[in-house]
Amino acid sequence: MGYKRYVLFGISLKKISQKFLGYIPVGVVKMEKHEIVIIGAGPGGLTAAKELAKKDRDVLLLERKPEDKIGEKVCGGGLPERVWKDVPSSLFKGVFTPIIHLGGIEATAQLLGMKVASVDRIDLGQYQLREAEKFGAEVRGNSPVSYVKLRQNKVICKGEEIGYDNLIVACGSNSRLLKRLGLRTYITIGYDYDIEEHFRDMEIFYDVEKIGIRYAWIFPHGDHASIGSGYIPRFGQKGINERKKIENFFKERGIDLKYAKKRSAPMNIAYNYFKRRNVYLIGDSASFLNPLTGEGIYQAMRSGEIAANAIIDKKYKYKKPIKDVYRHHQIVNPLLFAADFFSIKKLEPKRIQKMLGWLENSKYGHRALSRANYLLAKSLKIYPGFASFLYLSQLFAPTTLASWDTIKDYMDVLI
Ligand SMILES: Cc1cc2nc3c(=O)[nH]c(=O)nc-3n(C[C@H](O)[C@H](O)[C@H](O)COP(=O)(O)OP(=O)(O)OC[C@H]3O[C@@H](n4cnc5c(N)ncnc54)[C@H](O)[C@@H]3O)c2cc1C
Repeated sequence: MGYKRYVLFGISLKKISQKFLGYIPVGVVKMEKHEIVIIGAGPGGLTAAKELAKKDRDVLLLERKPEDKIGEKVCGGGLPERVWKDVPSSLFKGVFTPIIHLGGIEATAQLLGMKVASVDRIDLGQYQLREAEKFGAEVRGNSPVSYVKLRQNKVICKGEEIGYDNLIVACGSNSRLLKRLGLRTYITIGYDYDIEEHFRDMEIFYDVEKIGIRYAWIFPHGDHASIGSGYIPRFGQKGINERKKIENFFKERGIDLKYAKKRSAPMNIAYNYFKRRNVYLIGDSASFLNPLTGEGIYQAMRSGEIAANAIIDKKYKYKKPIKDVYRHHQIVNPLLFAADFFSIKKLEPKRIQKMLGWLENSKYGHRALSRANYLLAKSLKIYPGFASFLYLSQLFAPTTLASWDTIKDYMDVLI
C-alpha cells in the first residue's frame, strides 16, 4: 500500500527518533501513498471505493466521522427507482407513489409510474461501507482531510501527508474543504424534521402562495418520518422566519412539528467540474444534486461509478454519462440564477402574480409565457422529474394554472 514503517527491535524507528532526537529524520518514515485517495464516505465516495476495489485498485477512503456513524446525514432518504438496483430492498422502509400537491391541485405521480422508496441514511451508509470493505477498499474513519496540495498530489489528514495518483473529492456540500480547494459554492438549505409518527402517504408540496419559491415533503420511514423543505436563502424575504413559515404550513395540515427533531444542512448547487487532471469531483461536491427536488443520492452514486470507470480505463468516455447526471443544470439552474439576478427574491408572491398577470395581458408577454409553458411540458421528455416540472410551472403560476388543460394535452402527447 506504499506505507512503510521502519522497525528496530520491534519498536518503530519513528517513535524512537521522536523520543530521543525530538524530530523525525528524513528517510525514517516514508510518506504513505495510494493509487486513489477518496475524501468522504457518503453514497458517492463509497460507490467509487467499491467499484475501484472490485478491480483490485489500491484505494484509501478518508472520512471525518467515526466508522459506525458513516451514513448519518440530514436527508429525506427518498430513493427513486433508478437507484434501486444498487440498494437491497431489505433496507426500504416503504415504497410509495408520491402525491404531489401543486397549489390547490393534487396530482399523483402515478401518472408517470413514478415510485419512490424511503431508507434511513445510516442503514444505507453502513451497507455501502460493508460492501466497499468486502471488495478490499480501506475505509478510515475519524480521518478528516484538512487540506489538499493539488500540485504535489498530497492530502493532509491529521497533520500527516498522504500521496495519491488520483484524487476523488466526495466530501458533500457541507465541508470547508470546498472553499479551500477554490471551488464555487451556491448554497441552498434543507430543513428537516424527524417526527416519530406513522404516515401512510409520501407527499410533495409546491405552493408559491403559501410557502414561497420552494418545495416541501413528507417522507414516511415506518415508525418515523422526515418532514422538510428545501429553501434558497437568497430568495428569502426580510424579517420572515423561514422555519416558522414551514412549521405553520404543516400545522395548517394538522401536523405539529414542535417536538420533532430539527436539523438543517446546506446543499451546494454551483456546478464546478467533474474531472481536472487527476482530480474528480463527485456527488454534492460537484453539485450534481437537483436543486428543485433536493434529490442527490442517485447523482452521487452514479458519478462515483463514472469516476471509478474513468480511473480504471483511461479510454472510458465519461463525458456523456456524466452529462446525464447533471442534465438538470442545463434547465433548472439558469432559471434559478436568472431569478436571482432579477431579484425575484425581493418580490412578494402577490407581486409576482401581478407581474405575470400583466405579462399575460400584453401581446409579447403572453406569447413568451405560452412558449415557456410549451417548453416546460416538453422538458418532461428530456427531463423526467415530474415534480420539478410542476415546481417550475409554479414560477409561472397564473398562466400555467389557467392553461392546465393545455399542459395535460401536451403531456398526453409526450407520455
Ligand atoms: C434536508 C435534505 C434532504 C434531502 N433529501 C434527499 C432525498 O430524499 N433523496 C435524495 O436522493 N437526496 C436527498 N438529499 C440530498 C442528499 O442527501 C445528498 O445529495 C447526498 O447525500 C450526496 O452524497 P455525497 O456522497 O455527495 O455527499 P454526503 O452524503 O454529504 O457525504 C459526504 C461525506 O464526506 C465527509 N466529509 C466532509 N468533509 C470531509 C473532510 N474534510 N474529510 C473527510 N471527510 C469529509 C462527510 O462527513 C460525509 O460523510 C437531501 C439533502 C438535504 C440537505
